[in-house]
Amino acid sequence: MSIYDEVLAANDEYAANFGGKGELALPPARHFAILTCMDARLDPAKYAGLSEGDAHVIRNAGGRASDDAIRSLVISYKLLGTREWFVIHHSNCGMEFFTDEVIRGLLASSLETAELGPDGFRDVGRGPGSAEATYIDWLTIADNAQSVVDDVTRIRNHPLVPGRIAIYGFIYDVATGRLVEVQEATKAGLPI
Ligand SMILES: [Zn+2]
Repeated sequence: MSIYDEVLAANDEYAANFGGKGELALPPARHFAILTCMDARLDPAKYAGLSEGDAHVIRNAGGRASDDAIRSLVISYKLLGTREWFVIHHSNCGMEFFTDEVIRGLLASSLETAELGPDGFRDVGRGPGSAEATYIDWLTIADNAQSVVDDVTRIRNHPLVPGRIAIYGFIYDVATGRLVEVQEATKAGLPI
């Protein structure tokens, strides 16, 4: 079965057992949001105990506080009433394995999927690539704990984020499934 068919088959089963979820309210019932990485090993519904309707989950590469993540968080509180936010990065994140310079070089070379070897990513595709990557800040991660502190601090200090919102910083351990708090980040995210 193709992925396309697998997804549609899984959805048939899900919809057949949908129960009363059609009655859920739009605002998250538990009034919180999670910003986390898109990594396939992370399932916020499972690692944080969410059911449909409970919370907002905003995901991008790295779980970074990008302008677009902040756009979602602002909508999350301003229109939909969330009061607490978790920023959750994770161990072994792909964003630690390259820099802006590296991905710009790979994309300038070709648009094929690069290979990851012992020396990092290597482009194996046929060109042409594109220099457009030069204009994107890829928000890569040099130090995992520091990246959580940086993101919580950026959100805390954002002019569109009210001081009453509590922001917590964590690293999810992909080896154990455990959330490890980054104390310095949570401290930076205290309500003011
Ligand atoms: Zn990641």
